[in-house]
Amino acid sequence: MNKVAHYLQEHLVGEVMTSADARRYFSTDTSIFTQTPALVVYPRNENDIRKTARFTWQLAERGRAIPITARGSGTDQSGAAIGNGVLMIFPAHMHRILELDSKTGNVTVEPGINYGKLQQTLLTHNRFLPPYPASIEYCTIGGAVANNASGEKSLKYGDTRGFVKAMRVVLANGEVIETKKLSKRELSKKLGLATFEGEIYRALDALLEENKDLLKQMQPGVTKNSAGYALDLVKRKDGFDLTPLFVGAQGTLGLISEITLQTEVHTPNTTLIAAQFDDLKVACQIIMELRKLPDLPSAMEIVDEHLLKFVQTHNPNLLQGVVNQPLPKILLLLEFDNPAERQQKRLAKKATKLLNKYQVSHRLETEAQAKEALWRIRHSAATVTSYSEGNSKAIPIIEDGVVPVERFNEYLDAVYQLFDRYQLASAVWGHAGDANVHMQPLMDLSQVGDRQKLFKLLDEYYNLVISMGGSTTGEHGDGRLRGLYLQNLYGPEIYEVFRKVKKIFDPYNTLNPGVKIDVSLDQVKSMVRQEYSLEHLYDHMPRS
Ligand SMILES: Cc1cc2nc3c(=O)[nH]c(=O)nc-3n(C[C@H](O)[C@H](O)[C@H](O)COP(=O)(O)OP(=O)(O)OC[C@H]3O[C@@H](n4cnc5c(N)ncnc54)[C@H](O)[C@@H]3O)c2cc1C
Repeated sequence: MNKVAHYLQEHLVGEVMTSADARRYFSTDTSIFTQTPALVVYPRNENDIRKTARFTWQLAERGRAIPITARGSGTDQSGAAIGNGVLMIFPAHMHRILELDSKTGNVTVEPGINYGKLQQTLLTHNRFLPPYPASIEYCTIGGAVANNASGEKSLKYGDTRGFVKAMRVVLANGEVIETKKLSKRELSKKLGLATFEGEIYRALDALLEENKDLLKQMQPGVTKNSAGYALDLVKRKDGFDLTPLFVGAQGTLGLISEITLQTEVHTPNTTLIAAQFDDLKVACQIIMELRKLPDLPSAMEIVDEHLLKFVQTHNPNLLQGVVNQPLPKILLLLEFDNPAERQQKRLAKKATKLLNKYQVSHRLETEAQAKEALWRIRHSAATVTSYSEGNSKAIPIIEDGVVPVERFNEYLDAVYQLFDRYQLASAVWGHAGDANVHMQPLMDLSQVGDRQKLFKLLDEYYNLVISMGGSTTGEHGDGRLRGLYLQNLYGPEIYEVFRKVKKIFDPYNTLNPGVKIDVSLDQVKSMVRQEYSLEHLYDHMPRS
């Protein structure tokens, strides 16, 4: 491998590293898996990415495949930001804002920019990117785009995919392409190109045409979904666009070198309602009814009694004067951010009326400090994710399922029963308005018993979500963990189309192999860490 590192270092402006400690540092992300890269590359510019891809393509043509895995901050929980070949680290150098267009509000960035920093800059222009994940302070925009991340504001504003307008992407052979919505004329030009890009357009267009009817039924009946490839969004009446396909592809189809995103006007003056429920059924009923308001709330988030009890034990100050005792089964936070004050008030009034009808204890806050104290409770789920009890750690394995909203209550009941059956302690929190909640049971990965339990639990949980018409991942992506269930989720025919897509873009399987498509259970089992930790995040206190 040193020869490869040597060659790359001679040709790249950015650094190449093969030291054992650098490779060890990048051998984990925030998933339960580990894989040590052969070398680490810090691209300084698009040309460095291009040259690396070109080189690995040429080696692959000669029968030696060295994979490339793109990496932002490595906060991926699905095992998609690790690999055994070249690990390409974007935040080191490729972290600039290239353009912020004050007229359109569009922003163009390099993928390694820290999401939180970008958001701060946008806020100084009274704009923001609504689908920010809870890991905003420490993840990159490139990782968020590659995962199709979303978060607490996605109920109203949707996921990352809806905000990416255009990209520059380095293909597996080192060619650079620009993606955006193409008119018929622009598409026929692409179809005529005698390049790898042309080959991709031709093969993909034919594949989509052949499977038109099949792909019409590809989306599960949920309000957010980061599983699979978004093939249903590529060829539409209003144009042909590869952008939505690269979003959520987890670096398996190309390496993103530049991203143009649309932003939204930010309204700091919000109304926040906190409602306490003692009955899960009533909470789910009200969540359904709140979704029918003339405008969707900007957030509808929950934390459950287990999380509240956990906070009471470990950080009781957070609850004082904010949540009434005895602690409720569910605390719901309902936010309205409509820019028109009258409309915001009207919606908050309707919500209050509904809560009164069901005699639910609640309070309404518009003052910044009071709202922040409430949000802090929701964000305190971070205390759970970084919690350990002896060798047992809160681990992300069944943390991101999403079901049809009308089945939320049934789903939560089934999840609590699952925890009981497996005798696992876990709290539940997240995006109730989308029926997409997070949970991380405490397990000890150094114990054979827990490692065996792990795969049984995975099967039971993901089959439950799929049987309810849900998706295995609302926002965190398939990676290795959920790649195991992708065929079950979409069925063999659509899965076969996904495999063909992968082959079209990545014929030598050099782009993040073993992620999303053709995930091997044996390989995944062999990659489970003996000890789980969040070492990459300890600079920041994670929130979730
Ligand atoms: C405590 C915690 C909370 C979280 N909360 C959320 C949440 O609310 N919502 C959510 O969606 N996710 C959440 N996540 C998951 C994760 O943090 C996000 O998806 C995040 O956006 C990933 O960004 P990253 O920079 O860490 O990417 P990484 O982990 O480095 O990479 C993620 C994926 O993107 C690919 N990638 C990175 N850069 C590029 C590139 N330039 N070109 C092509 N592919 C690339 C990688 O190969 C990998 O497949 C959370 C994680 C943690 C640990």
